Amino acid sequence: MAQAKIRLYVEHPLVAGQPIPLTEAQAHYLFGVMREGVGSLVRLFNGQDGEWIAEVTTAAKRGGALTPREVSAPQLNPPDLWLLFAPIKKARTDFIVEKAAELGAARICPVQTEFTNADRIRQDRLQAHALEAAEQCGGTYVPEVADLAPLSKVLAGWDPARRILWADESLVGAAETLAGLAPGPWSILIGPEGGFSEAERNRLRALDFVTPVSLGPRILRADTAACAALTLWQAALGDWR
Ligand code: SAM
Repeated sequence: MAQAKIRLYVEHPLVAGQPIPLTEAQAHYLFGVMREGVGSLVRLFNGQDGEWIAEVTTAAKRGGALTPREVSAPQLNPPDLWLLFAPIKKARTDFIVEKAAELGAARICPVQTEFTNADRIRQDRLQAHALEAAEQCGGTYVPEVADLAPLSKVLAGWDPARRILWADESLVGAAETLAGLAPGPWSILIGPEGGFSEAERNRLRALDFVTPVSLGPRILRADTAACAALTLWQAALGDWR
């Protein structure tokens, strides 16, 4: 059963022999675009039951069914790492969500800071990007994308047991490092193109659960900064070690 190349996310429990109905879009993709049919093998995941090889058991223009046959990979959840980021331009925000899913963030939270240009996001579209990224990178987990929320409100209700690694552009060039960070639940915080305001910076500095960090001697674009911080955290405390 090794020739299954197509990977799909489904919202149903994966149980051997229990057929899963296809959505119209999945049927169109599988049978119309990819020209698969009854007997074809597909890899499925649902974010909880690992990855399964499933067989197309019914194929129609607008629907069909896949029947899971055997587990092909165990469920692998990412470390308890969230990404808080201020949305930027559409394509770059899409990029941040896609890369966060690939790099192993467990939750993605868009936050509105004082200098954030966007006052709304399309949460459903960003969630679809996270899902597509998981489908393509072989992940069995899809990070939830939260709705946009003001940073001040998020901080007011924050559980201090989860530390925040704050990418602070005012530290550019400082010799701050990630060495010595304690394991546990973490979140990374990345600011918008305009950076953090002085008021936000003062508030973040005063919070015990916030650790400011420099990402090197140059100012990075927010999307680059998100990838760099996720990579550094994963190498120091995550599942890349
Ligand atoms: N307009 C800001 C300035 O000129 O100082 C730069 C903001 S930067 C484009 C966007 C975000 O990326 C920052 O708010 C910060 O979270 C992060 N960032 C970029 N470069 C960084 C660095 N070298 N160290 C720490 N954080 C950085």
